[in-house]
Amino acid sequence: MSETPAACPCSICAEPVERHTESYCNGCGRLFHLNQREDLPGRDCGTVSLSEAHLALEFLCAACDEAAADAPAELAAVLDLAEAAGAAGMSEAALAAEAAAGRLPHRRTAGGALLFERAAVERLARAGGGA
Ligand SMILES: [Zn+2]
Ligand SMILES: [Zn+2]
Repeated sequence: MSETPAACPCSICAEPVERHTESYCNGCGRLFHLNQREDLPGRDCGTVSLSEAHLALEFLCAACDEAAADAPAELAAVLDLAEAAGAAGMSEAALAAEAAAGRLPHRRTAGGALLFERAAVERLARAGGGA
């Protein structure tokens, strides 16, 4: 019984994964290559980064990493009225009034929805914090 079990293939490149490159994606849970040893050769089919939110290592296979990179970053930085109200801790009406008064940079879509930049909303929330 000296036979070693066949190594599981990487979900990205389908090559067998060595023990020191064995990593599981936090996005899809699949096995992929990530060389965890600087002294050994190994391929990387994904990335690892330190999550500041969880203070833990986050493994992402190349497929999930690409999907994350494809999501436009500005989406997260743009808020609609309800989201902005939540972020600012204000009512939607109060926020709309701030926008109408020109105190909050905003954009109105063709559909009539108000869009705000997260940074501007947070600035307003800080400025109005003492009111
Ligand atoms: Zn691979
Ligand atoms: Zn993945």
